[in-house]
Amino acid sequence: MDFQKGSKFTCPECGAEGQKVHDTVTKTWRHLNFFQYEAYLTARVPRVRCDVCGVHLFPVPWAREGSGFTLLFKALVLSLASAMPIKTLAKEWYFWATHSRLSAMVEAAHTIKHHWDGVLQWFESHINNGILEGINSLIQACKARARGYRSKENLISMIYLIAGKLQIALPT
Ligand SMILES: [Zn+2]
Repeated sequence: MDFQKGSKFTCPECGAEGQKVHDTVTKTWRHLNFFQYEAYLTARVPRVRCDVCGVHLFPVPWAREGSGFTLLFKALVLSLASAMPIKTLAKEWYFWATHSRLSAMVEAAHTIKHHWDGVLQWFESHINNGILEGINSLIQACKARARGYRSKENLISMIYLIAGKLQIALPT
């Protein structure tokens, strides 16, 4: 990602419009995997020289200041621990991205929207796989413990109890 030569920026500090670029810093953010591929976002970020208040790094809309992760990546990580459905999250991100003032961001949002179903399905199957693997490891641990149990029924009850208990706290 880049910006056009001679672009003017609004000062991120005091809001003065039409400020010139002082210099640029190339930064990279860890983004969501694109299916099985690790994805990184690299951009030349301008430092704005404001006539009023000095030089400031322009804040990018896809990450918080000083963070090496994009917001979407963080949101996904957080959603794994929260009850927020990935669809809601994705919709919110799409709204936010299409309303950002960066044309590259808007374009990226449209591209993702175009592959919406595949992307969402990928998230969901990954989350579900994680849950499944989690349940499976609990069952394995339970089986090991169940050597002392008298019947298969007891083991199955234990599995329901343990795996069922886990389900309650999981994102759905
Ligand atoms: Zn300023």
